[in-house]
Amino acid sequence: MNYNLDEYCAHFKSVLENQLERCEKMKNCAEKTDFSKKEKIIIGVIDGDGIGPIIVSETERIARKLLEKEILDGKIEIRRISGLTIENRLEKNQSVPEDVLSEIKSCDVLLKGPTTTPKGGTMESANVTLRRELDLYANVRPVCVPEKNIDWIFFRENTEGEYILGSSGFEIPKTLAFDFKVTTDEGTRRIAKSAFEYAKNNGKKSVSIVTKANIMKKTDGKFSAICHSVAAEYPDITAEEWYVDIMSANLINEDIRHKFQVFVLPNLYGDIITDEAAQLQGGVGTAGSANIGDKYAMFEAIHGSAPRMIEEGLGDFANPQSILRALVMLLRHIGYQDKAKKLEDAMTVCDNENRIVVTGSRENNTCREYTEYVISKL
Ligand code: NAD
Repeated sequence: MNYNLDEYCAHFKSVLENQLERCEKMKNCAEKTDFSKKEKIIIGVIDGDGIGPIIVSETERIARKLLEKEILDGKIEIRRISGLTIENRLEKNQSVPEDVLSEIKSCDVLLKGPTTTPKGGTMESANVTLRRELDLYANVRPVCVPEKNIDWIFFRENTEGEYILGSSGFEIPKTLAFDFKVTTDEGTRRIAKSAFEYAKNNGKKSVSIVTKANIMKKTDGKFSAICHSVAAEYPDITAEEWYVDIMSANLINEDIRHKFQVFVLPNLYGDIITDEAAQLQGGVGTAGSANIGDKYAMFEAIHGSAPRMIEEGLGDFANPQSILRALVMLLRHIGYQDKAKKLEDAMTVCDNENRIVVTGSRENNTCREYTEYVISKL
């Protein structure tokens, strides 16, 4: 056995230096955007890959309809951003090509279609890059199933954990592979603060902190401890401690799941648990997701680019509900509560009438038929 340990130690040293630099940057956080004071709000629209262009163009049509007057008055601009496609990213060998990133940074909020992540190789996911570059630290995902008494909201940490270092691991061929996970004090404090502030401002009584701190003692241990120290600033809200394995069981336990309200989780557990929760609502096609930072925010469907649907010629049957729910969240975020409610109500009417049903299958309706139907109910 003759391994070049210095090479791997140097690699770890550079990972560590980058993370310490990030910790320093987080201390000088951006000023929060106050949308009520902005003369014009720019909404960037990104197609993405696979079913992305289909569901995004239909959602854009609805956004333009809802914001018709504001667009005419110059208060809102809907700006199309091209180039965040797998073809362009591979050609430029950049997860988010520089020119695309600078266009994105000229917008205030983004409505983004799902983007394909190349398997293997070293290119990181476009989402991981965007979350880092725009510092979108809170991934907020509501899941609501009134008939099952479920009204949950998840605050998933978006910029740390396994994800930020997922492309920084190393492998000694035929021997072992290493990945890294990082949890920082400031990164945890700000997501915990978002969850507890939400609870306080929305009359919620409990926040469930979900980790695997019994096993991942340093990283999840820190996450849990910092969430509890933030909880101490909110004496009217109960902070509950749960491990992610039992929480994944709890979500399908009808006897207790209705008791949960707000969740705060590290990145990886949040990713997995929110897909499970979305399934209870009717599948990943039905939930929206917000990535929120102090300056920028990005809204998208919870699902991916569904490449198999495109290969099987089923793209037109993609369900747009998830990205439409993301549009509802976007409208609320920029202060258009009335328009958000209008869209939400129209979708509820369509769902209750059950005349147009999109399931991703040829037997049911198309994406366009659904959005036409929603427009008719606005
Ligand atoms: P996926 O979400 O694309 O597909 C999972 C299943 O859900 C498939 O059966 C698909 O047909 C179905 N599905 C997804 N969206 C649907 C919709 N709107 N209507 C009907 N059915 C729908 O997950 P995957 O196959 O694991 O990932 C495909 C690609 O998407 C990967 O490259 C992955 O990295 C990427 N991805 C991107 C994002 C994002 O950009 N936010 C999120 C997740 C995955």
